[in-house]
Amino acid sequence: MKRFQPRTLHKRIMFAIALLQLIVVGLFALYLLIQQVGNELTNRQVLGHKMIGITAPAVSHLIQYDPAGITAYLGSMLGDHAVAGITVKDSAGNVLFQQAKESGNLHPVAGWFQAAEARPRISAELKSGQGPLGLITIELSNNPLNEKIHRLLNDVSYLFLLLLGVDLIAIQLLVRSVMAPLTPLAALAREVSQGNWEKTMLTTEANASEEVKNLSDAFIESAKTMRQQIHDLEETRGQLAENELKLRNLVNNMQEVLLEVDHNGLVSFLNPAWEALTGYATETSLQRPFAEFLAQPKQMAYFESGRLEHIPLSEFQLEVRAQDGRSVWMQMNTSLQHDENGAFLGVISTLEDISETLRLQELQRQHEQDLYHLTITDPLTGVYNRRHFDSLLENLLHLNLHRGHSLALVIVDLDGFKFINDTYGHPVGDEVLRTVANALRANEHQGSAVARIAGDEFALLLPNVNEVQADKFGHMIHDSLSRIVIPLPVGQLTVQTSIGIAVAPVHGKLPQDLVRAADVALYHAKKSGRNRVDTLSRERGAAIMDIFSQGFEVRNAIAAGMILPFMQPIVDLKTRKVFAYEVLTRMRRGDSFVPADDFIPIAEDLGLIRDMDLFVITQALTLIPKNVHLFVNISLNSFYAPEFTQQLRGLLHSPIAQGRPITIEFTERQTTEMSKDFIQMFSEIRAGGCNVALDDFGVGYSTYSYLRQLRPEFIKIDGSFVLQLKENKEDVKIVEQIRELAQVVGAHTIAEHIEDEETIAMLVEMGVNFGQGYYFSKPVNVADQHWLNADLV
Ligand code: C2E
Ligand code: MG
Ligand code: MG
Repeated sequence: MKRFQPRTLHKRIMFAIALLQLIVVGLFALYLLIQQVGNELTNRQVLGHKMIGITAPAVSHLIQYDPAGITAYLGSMLGDHAVAGITVKDSAGNVLFQQAKESGNLHPVAGWFQAAEARPRISAELKSGQGPLGLITIELSNNPLNEKIHRLLNDVSYLFLLLLGVDLIAIQLLVRSVMAPLTPLAALAREVSQGNWEKTMLTTEANASEEVKNLSDAFIESAKTMRQQIHDLEETRGQLAENELKLRNLVNNMQEVLLEVDHNGLVSFLNPAWEALTGYATETSLQRPFAEFLAQPKQMAYFESGRLEHIPLSEFQLEVRAQDGRSVWMQMNTSLQHDENGAFLGVISTLEDISETLRLQELQRQHEQDLYHLTITDPLTGVYNRRHFDSLLENLLHLNLHRGHSLALVIVDLDGFKFINDTYGHPVGDEVLRTVANALRANEHQGSAVARIAGDEFALLLPNVNEVQADKFGHMIHDSLSRIVIPLPVGQLTVQTSIGIAVAPVHGKLPQDLVRAADVALYHAKKSGRNRVDTLSRERGAAIMDIFSQGFEVRNAIAAGMILPFMQPIVDLKTRKVFAYEVLTRMRRGDSFVPADDFIPIAEDLGLIRDMDLFVITQALTLIPKNVHLFVNISLNSFYAPEFTQQLRGLLHSPIAQGRPITIEFTERQTTEMSKDFIQMFSEIRAGGCNVALDDFGVGYSTYSYLRQLRPEFIKIDGSFVLQLKENKEDVKIVEQIRELAQVVGAHTIAEHIEDEETIAMLVEMGVNFGQGYYFSKPVNVADQHWLNADLV
């Protein structure tokens, strides 16, 4: 059975109150009823007893004195509406009077009371002074009681209804006043429920109760908050939608491929870039194993299920086979996907096409390799250059010595290369160099290296080769190089080489020591007539040490200012006046002075001569008065250093400008071909205001071509022709010829080593202009000179 349940709160309150009302009024009515009915019943009992109390004596009297009067008396009594019947019996039990009338049943309400009998009968004994007369019984009527109960019930009902009516009206008013403020709230809720948020701007009714106000305010507040939240939510949703659109556009327009692969290695997402890069349609690529698109099995293996989790996460380079068979190199950056329980789901990756980058990288690598090749090789011959040779030497030396092996250094010097260059031109010179380099390379063996270490010098490094093997190798190279024939437009050219060999660790353990040793060997080879091989013997090790220690001495002497200028006067042979002074170097060793001849060759061999020349000239210029004509000796070796001419000009510029005549003497100890560069340097020095003298003419390598090309102002006749002039007719002839030659080229002559008066006379006779020698003065320390007394000047 469906339980009655009012729908609205209003009705529910009403129903509840009515029910309560019913219970209260019902209980009240019950209370009244119980009380009234109880009272009535008691009253009836009382009335019955009173009635019998009066009647019994009267009937006893009538029985005794007027039995006929009983009927009349009791008949009138029966007229009372409270009496329902009367019975009188005599003492024998005979009925003397009996009469009854309709009394009706007792109202059921009266029946609830156990105490009250349905039809109460009250009996009393009839007595006289002599004894009992009989029994009288009066039966009371139910009607008065029933009427009372009826009336009572009616009254209670009316009261109940009246109270109910009044209550309902009061409740109605009460509920109204409580519920009224809720009505707009309800309306508002309805609006809200329909999504109409704009009406939430209402206010609470002023006369609403506090609770309703609070409720209403809370509702309105929460409605407002909700409205704001919904607004925010809508905005967020809008933004999300916008972002999603952007994201989609981004993904669709991405240059990189966006790839999702599930844990089984199957493709689950691809953006359009995939098709653009590989030619495979995106839709048909989905759900295929990604490995199918790859070219290399090693890379494919990563996409097998179980291994995908171990894929390299960044910069993984993959070779993808495009639909047309092309190879597309892609760089993959990956993030692993797991669910909230940590189970592996698959990967999301970006694939960037790096084919072009790789191509460029390869190009760059190639380019760098080429560049590196260029930086380490000699462009003309293709063999290593000097710089790379230096580092190779250092590395190979270290490596081989560390392994307990030897390392041979072979220096190959082309004899007369300058001559070839000057005579046949640079193209022929270049061809010679190239051919020699190729021949050396052809003789290379395991681990060896060939380098061009100077204009006409090559070096070979031979790991794990001892002195004997190195010497054999040197001779083999020498032979093969001597077989080289360079064809010329007319005729042909053969190549001659001098080879110096040194072996580490025998001749040195440091790169510079080994190079020096090989240089010395080369020097010896050249000294002993060129076109030969010289391997530094063990014995010569001591000689090297000697040379080096002398070299050290020279170097230290320069640094310590122990190199001093001496000078020897050059005298006009006719007037005997000092024409000039030649500056000659001396090295101080303790209290003595070492003559130049004893250390100049070493200084030249060890590359110290340039600093020494500049040092001595500077000293002389400072110490010797400004107007004195100076002849200074300069080695041609010094000019191999390109900056030397500049330095020399810088040094001489101001003395010459201040009026000091300066003549530069050259001695040629080795052949130096007069290259264009060389002539150029001479003309630069000349342009600076210097004169040129050819020293030791007749014995050195100086040739007529020197005279022609250099046009010296002075020719110095070598002392060896002068010393025995008196005795040796041949020397006279030579001196005469030199003087004539000087005349031809317009040079003055200076005779060296004049030691006596007769020689002067002969020289004057022969027309030699100037002279110098012990006869006039030995070379003397400039510092010891008393220039003010210099009557020779
Ligand atoms: P040089 O220029 O031909 O010098 C002449 C050499 O003969 C000097 O030897 C000198 O002391 C010596 N001498 C001079 N008069 C006589 C004499 O009457 N009889 C004999 N027997 N000898 C005499 P020194 O000083 O030992 O110099 C040797 C060579 O060293 C010089 O030959 C010159 O070529 C070179 N030299 C000297 N000083 C320098 C210098 O500062 N720089 C350079 N590059 N070379 C120098
Ligand atoms: Mg000289
Ligand atoms: Mg000389």
